[in-house]
Amino acid sequence: METISGSNTENYIDLEHQYGAHNYHPLPVVLERGKGVYLWDVDGKKYFDFLSAYSAVNQGHCHPKILKALQDQASKLCLTSRAFHNSSFGPFAAYITEYFGYDKILPMNSGAEAVETAIKLARKWGVQKKGVPQEQAQIVVCHNNFHGRTTTIISFSDDHVAKKDFGPYTPGFIAIPHNDIDALKAVFTSNKNIVGFLVEPIQGEAGIFTPEEDYLRNVQQLCNQNDVLFIADEIQTGIARTGSLLAVCGNCDCSSSCLRQSDTFAAPDILILGKAISGGVYPVSAVLANNAVMDVIQPGEHGSTFGGNPIAAAVATAALKVVKEEKLAANARKLGQLFRDAMNDYIKSSDIVTLVRGKGLLNAIVINDSPESDTAWNICLALKENGLLAKPTHGNIIRFAPPLIMTIDELTACVAIITKTLRDFEPK
Ligand SMILES: *Cc1c(COP(=O)(O)O)cnc(C)c1O
Repeated sequence: METISGSNTENYIDLEHQYGAHNYHPLPVVLERGKGVYLWDVDGKKYFDFLSAYSAVNQGHCHPKILKALQDQASKLCLTSRAFHNSSFGPFAAYITEYFGYDKILPMNSGAEAVETAIKLARKWGVQKKGVPQEQAQIVVCHNNFHGRTTTIISFSDDHVAKKDFGPYTPGFIAIPHNDIDALKAVFTSNKNIVGFLVEPIQGEAGIFTPEEDYLRNVQQLCNQNDVLFIADEIQTGIARTGSLLAVCGNCDCSSSCLRQSDTFAAPDILILGKAISGGVYPVSAVLANNAVMDVIQPGEHGSTFGGNPIAAAVATAALKVVKEEKLAANARKLGQLFRDAMNDYIKSSDIVTLVRGKGLLNAIVINDSPESDTAWNICLALKENGLLAKPTHGNIIRFAPPLIMTIDELTACVAIITKTLRDFEPK
């Protein structure tokens, strides 16, 4: 086995390169410690985290309350499988269903598994409750979606790189444009075997595309009218990221789960959560639905060895409590507005940034260069040198998504780093 001498960044990167599959292209930084909004690399250099592990670390790195829940539970009981009951899952299930206003949870581990679960649930519901013939169920999805990496999920992806050479693909999906209610209407009219509409309320990986304000409410209504399940993938947008508890809350800023009481709430029949549901401390995902849908799944029909394990249950409960105690939705809303205002101010006299868009603290800037250029990548390298970590998505777009516990002073410092860095890329 190779050992690392000293704390040389290149040594770690070489090891990863030699022994790890090359399925990612990371920024050349090797992190070894995190606290709140900060990360430190192996040489002790400190950074602002402006990615939050793709919005998994909304509560900040190594949150003491979440770590305590992890440590307490890990020293008592880690895993039983669900062949037996454990004393953590029941209380967690009661807590999270009350929190989001659903009858039941089906617990999984990764986001992709939760999406798969929602697909299976919708198909079974379609056959058993809607009367769709066996193997005829169709699920409508959106172009430029991102829902994960399994064989079925990439089958309905438009991303050539994510899809190429991985066929044969799973049938049963119809793609329409995001934020296009007429296209949804048309597809419902043309096909009677549709069981679900799977949608990201804001498209994240595609580059942070926020739909029109009434889009999700119209989706909910149209799905109801057509006896189709509205399936919201809030793995990235949920858990206060966009300035409300869920993106489907719309502009409700009560920061709690008034949910069904609020008239801006577009109620999904199936809600998919992951990422920040555990504050990034442990892989936890969840599918939430009411009994009319969830009860189509019976013993033996679906499962996961680690899904709903005692550590996951304890960690996710603690992580969800932090979201409310620290009013993260309200903070994301306030700081997000400040961030976009500051960036819009910068853009007025910029040639290198064309626009900033987003909601809450899920934002992106578009770089004035072709998606094939490496300008956005080079800007991220320079941001790293200046003490801030962010990553391009789709070539010329840079996503900015810091932990939601950030203070105004910290955000101001980050804006200064970002604008100073961008200025160096302005044409002279
Ligand atoms: C990250 C993400 C997923 C996949 O989650 P994994 O935990 O990586 O499997 C699915 N949907 C959306 C919207 C995501 O952002």
